[in-house]
Amino acid sequence: MIGLIRRVLSRLRMIEAPDLVTAVVSQHPTPKDLTPGRLFLVQSEGLEKWACFRCPGGCGQKIMLSLVGRREPSWVVRTDWLKRPTIQPSVRQINRCGCHFWVTRGCVDWCGDSATRSPLQD
Ligand SMILES: [Zn+2]
Repeated sequence: MIGLIRRVLSRLRMIEAPDLVTAVVSQHPTPKDLTPGRLFLVQSEGLEKWACFRCPGGCGQKIMLSLVGRREPSWVVRTDWLKRPTIQPSVRQINRCGCHFWVTRGCVDWCGDSATRSPLQD
């Protein structure tokens, strides 16, 4: 239902179509589950522990962000009623992809120093 509302709002151009939509799960997603456009919040014991998604820079690598504050580094993911995630702080890949981006209300915003801003072509 939320997905339908989100699609209608983006079709009406009232919101930007999100690059990522949150799904709350209790197990780490398998590589097959990890479809582009989904951000998995892995919960255990009622706590959000990890955020997992495919790198939007196109290397396709699984990104796993720790949401547990006592680990370093850690991130905060807030999800709005349209299931659009906002991630703080930014995410920087240290692989060949070298992408650096923010996720705000489900949309990927590339940083000026990002080595990749769109899917890698190869
Ligand atoms: Zn990448």
